[in-house]
Amino acid sequence: MCPSRYAPAETAAGQAPISPFPLVEGAEGEVTMVKMMVKRVLSPLLDPLGNALFLSWAGDLGQAHRHGPRTAKRVALTFDDGPVLGGTEQVLDALAEFGVPGTFFCIGANVRQHPEIVRRAVAAGHAIGAHSMHHSRLATVSPTDAHHIEACVAALQDVLGRVPALYRPPWGWLTPWEVARLRRRGLAVIRWDIETPDWRTPCPPGDQMAQWALPRVRPGTIVVFHDGMTHADTHPKPETARAVRQLVPALRAQGYEFVTIPTLLNIPAYQDEERI
Ligand SMILES: [Zn+2]
Repeated sequence: MCPSRYAPAETAAGQAPISPFPLVEGAEGEVTMVKMMVKRVLSPLLDPLGNALFLSWAGDLGQAHRHGPRTAKRVALTFDDGPVLGGTEQVLDALAEFGVPGTFFCIGANVRQHPEIVRRAVAAGHAIGAHSMHHSRLATVSPTDAHHIEACVAALQDVLGRVPALYRPPWGWLTPWEVARLRRRGLAVIRWDIETPDWRTPCPPGDQMAQWALPRVRPGTIVVFHDGMTHADTHPKPETARAVRQLVPALRAQGYEFVTIPTLLNIPAYQDEERI
């Protein structure tokens, strides 16, 4: 398990749990609902085992980036699981207030739903990476499946007009064979060294998340937030935006500079791009 995992002190009062709804309708939608219910039953049993195996060094054999150089006070803020109405827009607003560039790892199904939000992020100077088509752990561990990678890359390519060169595995799970097929497709694998707990429902208060993250940031740190949710069309993330608004000025006061993942790691964001 990631050592930077958050132990929640409390959760924000008055927040109702938000249920995602499938983007698919009709018979296919019903199948998706059944799958989601089965997953809810099995997840508590299988997730701890999967986390132990696939979040560890053994999952990627040291082939994934977990942070940048520890020699310069630079930090990359990253945002997973968008684009969605509400959450991604709130995060983009917060970043714009400070002129901070972020890196957004997008779920392909959500990109198909809201390409206009991806375009807004690109226009604002943010980097875009792939985060699989449907955020499936099963696809990641499958020895043969590459559709989850290729469909997400295609969705982004349709919007960006370019082929992304960054990939973050859903749930952070990796296997050596998943890493191999990502690298064969020209994708750098991006993990993190600080994961904020904003994926929890209800989301912890933003000020607590910022206070928790602040002492853990080191030069080269990659921070994970979540601006969206799998198969959600609308997903407000006010506490994530609040955490960003507190973390950015606090780290700047310590001399930190905010950069995108390609800048932090000195790698291209897109496959038609020369190395910096
Ligand atoms: Zn994710």
